Amino acid sequence: MRNLVVSIHDVSPLTQASCARILDDLREIGVPITSLLIIPNHHERAPVSEYEDFQGWLKTKVNEGHEPILHGYFHARSPKNTDAGIVKFTNQVYTAGEGEFYDLDRSEASRRLRQGLNDLEFLQRPISGFVAPAWLLGFEAEAAVRHVGFRYITTVSSVDVFDGLQRVSLAWNQGLSSRLRERPLLRIAIHPTDREIPMVWSQVKSVVGSALVDRRPLTYEKFIANHLDSTES
Ligand SMILES: [Zn+2]
Repeated sequence: MRNLVVSIHDVSPLTQASCARILDDLREIGVPITSLLIIPNHHERAPVSEYEDFQGWLKTKVNEGHEPILHGYFHARSPKNTDAGIVKFTNQVYTAGEGEFYDLDRSEASRRLRQGLNDLEFLQRPISGFVAPAWLLGFEAEAAVRHVGFRYITTVSSVDVFDGLQRVSLAWNQGLSSRLRERPLLRIAIHPTDREIPMVWSQVKSVVGSALVDRRPLTYEKFIANHLDSTES
């Protein structure tokens, strides 16, 4: 059976209510587990360490089988004076300033990654995945991700697993077009605001529903375990 990963972006105390509704709805239509992309201090306004309700809720979800993933630290990128031209355009228009790991140097990236893992220690569970905000991960920041010990990242089009010095790229479908339908993994990314717009949300549910006809829902972590680790043994 082929696989479906539903990933929920931007999980934080600021989006908890929408995320909770999303997970309830998904469970109802047959998706009991997802990958949760967590922001440790969303826009410097919501440090998870200060939100006990959020911690309790997230811990319950993780115990139910949802996978916690680190998704940046603040999520927002601090603009730089030297920004010009394409950088300004990319950062402010395409990502709305959300490319936090786009051009961090290695030591600052490492510091934020370690702090993020530290902030999520209350989950009492290892975190193996990192997804850069807006999927923008610079070269130096990626080196930091590997060095800190994450096992995989996801990009716009694939899940990339670090296996020693190798990088194994597992591509997925972005949509349900027939050309790509045979790929083993389909990823559907959901943002908290999707839940608040009825037309968007019913569209998302219908795409998830179609995928469930011949795919089983799982997390990235489980997909990687099934796909790579099983061939090693
Ligand atoms: Zn995000």
